[in-house]
Amino acid sequence: MEKTRLRERLIQLTRDLVLIESTDAKPEERNRCFQLFRNHLEEVGGVTLQMHEKEGYESLVALPEGISRPDVLFCGHLDVVEHPTSDHYRSEIRDGSIIGPGAGDMKGQLAILLELFRHLHREYPGISVGMAITSDEERGGENGVKFLVEEIGLRCGVAIIPDGGSLTEITREEKGILHLRLLARGKAAHAARPWLGVNPLETLIASLSGIRAAFDEMIPEKFSADNPASHWFPTCSITNASTPNDSPNRIPEQAEAILDVRFPPPHTVESMLKLLKELAGKNVKVETIVAAEATHLKTDQRFVEISGEVAGKQAKTVAACGGSDARFFFAENIPVLLSRPYVGNLHGKDEWIEIDSMLDYFEICRRYVLEYVD
Ligand SMILES: [Zn+2]
Repeated sequence: MEKTRLRERLIQLTRDLVLIESTDAKPEERNRCFQLFRNHLEEVGGVTLQMHEKEGYESLVALPEGISRPDVLFCGHLDVVEHPTSDHYRSEIRDGSIIGPGAGDMKGQLAILLELFRHLHREYPGISVGMAITSDEERGGENGVKFLVEEIGLRCGVAIIPDGGSLTEITREEKGILHLRLLARGKAAHAARPWLGVNPLETLIASLSGIRAAFDEMIPEKFSADNPASHWFPTCSITNASTPNDSPNRIPEQAEAILDVRFPPPHTVESMLKLLKELAGKNVKVETIVAAEATHLKTDQRFVEISGEVAGKQAKTVAACGGSDARFFFAENIPVLLSRPYVGNLHGKDEWIEIDSMLDYFEICRRYVLEYVD
């Protein structure tokens, strides 16, 4: 395809997608976004479209006719994070980038996948390439990729997910994740007579301080915030703390905190959970909300080479602190290629994606797919 035309199409499609407020709170907008994909995909010959739904979250799977397990599966999510007002959901082009909510996570990438999917099926009818689009990645992927893989039985030779790494940094592994609820129970009392009660907030704070100290111990000496290669150690963030209390002069009955814990191997869900239960102490109950093992993506070296060739600079594999939908494929032993164009300010209102790198990413995937399916 001619480059200028492709460039225009990618910009147009990305900007159309940014306009749709496809957030968690707006299922009808997510549906509208799916409709846009369907409109573009329905005209592709030799492809069947299926819609799936779980807990109110839709997914779209496009497969070549007669093929249930494509060699390559393009995979992306159309949900974006919420912004305070609707007029945030527009875009502009500045300094060679498309700027707008969701441009880099991942509507720009969806535009690329859609264009590439159409291009491949037009030029190579029947090519073993499928596409899956989900709508709940920002809230965990349980009703999206996890559902498609575990319950619908979606399989493929390799999955391409442009939602991590960068153009020449292909994610090789991701830390495991634990989301935990810590619950302390006490005895309510009037705050003027604290000796009559047991304050669960104090229990919880003591427990959290112990956890904080233990995780601080695990920071390696070579750690530097500027050096991503040194970030490969366990971390723990307190992301919420609350009580049902609404009165300033009352000691509450209970208190809870939410923790987000990330860990690389050799730590496992089991070993981390054991450690956190010990650290939390006997007066604090630990409940698991989300648990995922560290993920190895089994990156294909050929994809790394092609990325370097197209980008014109050495490409490498990297380890990532964040998790992605890749972990659900990992559970089925399916390799995942996780890289993307240059993006930034993710989840901010000035989120951006660089246009030249969108074209490069398109070309990387195009070359790789044609080699892979051969
Ligand atoms: Zn994303």
